[in-house]
Amino acid sequence: MTFACTNYDYNTDKCQKLKTDCIPGRPGCVLEGKVKLSEELQKRINGVKEATAKRRATSKTGRKKY
Ligand code: SF4
Repeated sequence: MTFACTNYDYNTDKCQKLKTDCIPGRPGCVLEGKVKLSEELQKRINGVKEATAKRRATSKTGRKKY
């Protein structure tokens, strides 16, 4: 099965909606919660979620909040 998303920018290879890499099913994606993801995609999404959590845990000064 193939999928073409209207938000995908073929020139920049990015998602125009989220202004970042296209990872189908990621938070904010039109497919979020609507499709069963492959293991590989789920790992990429988990990586994005971990990076987001780390970024939020770090204050503007770069120090971790406890
Ligand atoms: S992340 Fe989702 S909404 Fe964005 S281009 Fe990829 S499939 Fe489309």
